[in-house]
Amino acid sequence: MNEVIDIKNMTPIFPGSVDAAGQRATLGVLGGGQLGRMFVHAAQRLGYFTAVLEPDAQSPAGLVSHHHIQTSYDDPAGLAELAQLCQAITTEFENVPAQTLQTLAQTRPVAPGAAVVGIAQNRIEEKAHFTACADVSGVTCAPYAVIETDAQLQGVQRNRADLLPGILKTARMGYDGKGQVRVKTADELATAWTELGGVACVLEKMLPLTAECSVLVARGWDGQVVSFAPQRNVHVEGILAVTHAYEGNMPSALADRARDAAVAIAQHLNYVGVLCVEFFVVDDGTEHGGLVVNEMAPRPHNSGHYTIDACDASQFDLQVYAMAGLPLPQPRQHSPAIMLNLLGDVWFDASGQLQEPNWRSVLSLPGTHLHLYGKLQARPGRKMGHLTITGPDVASITTVARRAADLLGLPGLGDI
Ligand code: ATP
Ligand code: MG
Repeated sequence: MNEVIDIKNMTPIFPGSVDAAGQRATLGVLGGGQLGRMFVHAAQRLGYFTAVLEPDAQSPAGLVSHHHIQTSYDDPAGLAELAQLCQAITTEFENVPAQTLQTLAQTRPVAPGAAVVGIAQNRIEEKAHFTACADVSGVTCAPYAVIETDAQLQGVQRNRADLLPGILKTARMGYDGKGQVRVKTADELATAWTELGGVACVLEKMLPLTAECSVLVARGWDGQVVSFAPQRNVHVEGILAVTHAYEGNMPSALADRARDAAVAIAQHLNYVGVLCVEFFVVDDGTEHGGLVVNEMAPRPHNSGHYTIDACDASQFDLQVYAMAGLPLPQPRQHSPAIMLNLLGDVWFDASGQLQEPNWRSVLSLPGTHLHLYGKLQARPGRKMGHLTITGPDVASITTVARRAADLLGLPGLGDI
């Protein structure tokens, strides 16, 4: 990928430094959500100043940053101010306009770059990339077909019965299971494509999943790569509910393959920053099952939040290190961890009345680390915070996680 300015050997931006003009070392982030907030926390702890560009006046990241530029993501004056304030810039969400990253990259190091973010924004390009590097990564994605035109739809209806039952996914803007329809027949496929507005989609074969996992990788401007061990993720209704992060969370042969694959995918993209690669474990008749790559997020990820409390460097620390051109320390996990996502549902009782969660009891449990994102209004399905549980061993964190889930009325967690 060619970035606009060549920063392979970029001069590190040291925390706490002040340049000749008296400007303090400042890192910028596009987007004001919870990922931006935790990035800001990590950057500030190291001694950087921070700037957030985000239109919402009350955003989780804007509320805690030194600077909050309150404009849209493509506002020329806002982008100019961000570039003027910051020595390096990142993004906390992948749907930032590619043009915005390109504009910023003309004058500042931007990590990850516009080209890779563009690939991750579009499932068609993302799958093409996974396919292109399958030889080095050792994993392929689920069998799929692209549907962008009526002719392609008809072609798939006629010739790709092997993809049914399947999931039709919009190429762009999907998250938390949105923009997806499950289809069993060729007729249902046609209806689903119309329902999704006839936009560019991929039809993916429905695979027999036995588990899901993700891997966080950080890569520097100089190509240095570090990674975390894979975490096993449980989704409820398309949204991440629980992350299991400890040795033995999945068969070690699979874990090694997933980690190697994620590193290969990041390398092949010439990626800079933190990348999360999501995998499916599928029942393919072998002892441990097969590994299939699902998608990637060009940023820290919800499934990596446990790294804040369970590792000696978090995914957000590594994002800071990578974009600032610092050497990347190989992170070490010091405690087994389980993360419970706290959606807005936790703030409602069974009859739909707003209620304050029972923090008194939850926080009295050993090894609980509560992170609330500062969102003013709880809504069902809205990510309000997360609770990480650390402890001396898997048995004790499992016991505490069950108790916390119970106290918070977390639905559908079953056997955590
Ligand atoms: P995210 O919030 O991770 O960005 P998303 O909306 O982009 O999610 P996916 O990760 O593609 O969507 O799918 C959401 C969930 O749906 C997956 O975690 C998995 O549980 C299920 N799923 C997706 N594709 C398949 C498939 N081909 N076979 C079986 N299950 C699938
Ligand atoms: Mg996903």
